[in-house]
Amino acid sequence: MKKAFVIEPGSPRRPVDKYDAPRLMADKAPVGFHAMIKPAGSSCNLDCTYCFYLSKADLQGGPGRSRMSDETLELLIRSYIRDVTTQEVVFTWQGGEPTLYGLDYFRKILSLQKKYARPGQTIHNDLQTNGILIDEPWCRFLKENDFLVGLSIDGPEHLHDAFRKAKDGSPTFEKVLHAAGLLKGFGVPFNTLTSVNRLNAAHPLQVYRFLRNELGATQAIAMRRSRKKG
Ligand code: SF4
Repeated sequence: MKKAFVIEPGSPRRPVDKYDAPRLMADKAPVGFHAMIKPAGSSCNLDCTYCFYLSKADLQGGPGRSRMSDETLELLIRSYIRDVTTQEVVFTWQGGEPTLYGLDYFRKILSLQKKYARPGQTIHNDLQTNGILIDEPWCRFLKENDFLVGLSIDGPEHLHDAFRKAKDGSPTFEKVLHAAGLLKGFGVPFNTLTSVNRLNAAHPLQVYRFLRNELGATQAIAMRRSRKKG
C-alpha cells in the first residue's frame, strides 16, 4: 500500500499516523469525538479499595500524581477544539479527582476554551467527581457554566461504604450525599457513576431505587468491573 505523508510548515515530512486522522477526515465531513481528560493524573483524596488507578502513579511513563502543566493544558484545549469539527465540543474532566486543583484551575480551562472556540461552536464540560470537595462555590460555578456532573456513588450507605473509603479508611457516604444535596439545591444536573461490584450486584433494585428516588440522579452509568476508578 502506498504510504501517505504529512507536510507541515517548518517540520520535516513524516508518515501519517493515527493522530492525524481527525484533521485528515475533517476535509470530508465534520469529525466528532470525545476524550476523557485527567489533568490530575491519578491524584485522589480517596482510597477506594477497588481502585485500579492510584497505583498507576508509580508506573514509569504512567499518569503520575502531578498536575498537567499550563502549557500542556493549553495545547490540549487548542488542539481538541481544532480537531473536533462538529458544532459541539464536549470536554470531560476526570481523575484521579479533578476538583483537587480548585476552581481557579477550571476558570483557566474556561478562558482557554473561549480563546480557541471557533465562531458557532458550542463547548460543553462534564466533571466526574467523587463529591468530597463539592461545596457551594463549586456548585455556583458548575451551574453558571452549565457543567454536567458525574457523581461517583455505589448505592445506599452500607453498599457505598464497603469499598469507597477515605485515606484514613473512614466512610465517605455522608459526604457524597451532602454533595448530591448541594448539586440538587443549586440545580446542577448530575448523573451517577456506579460501580457494579460483588456486593451491590446482589441488590440491583435497591441500588436503582436509591439512585432514582433518594439521590435524585437523572441517569446512572453503571461500570461492571471488579476494579475501577472514578
Ligand atoms: S476509585 Fe476514583 S475516587 Fe476512588 S480512589 Fe480511585 S480515583 Fe479516587
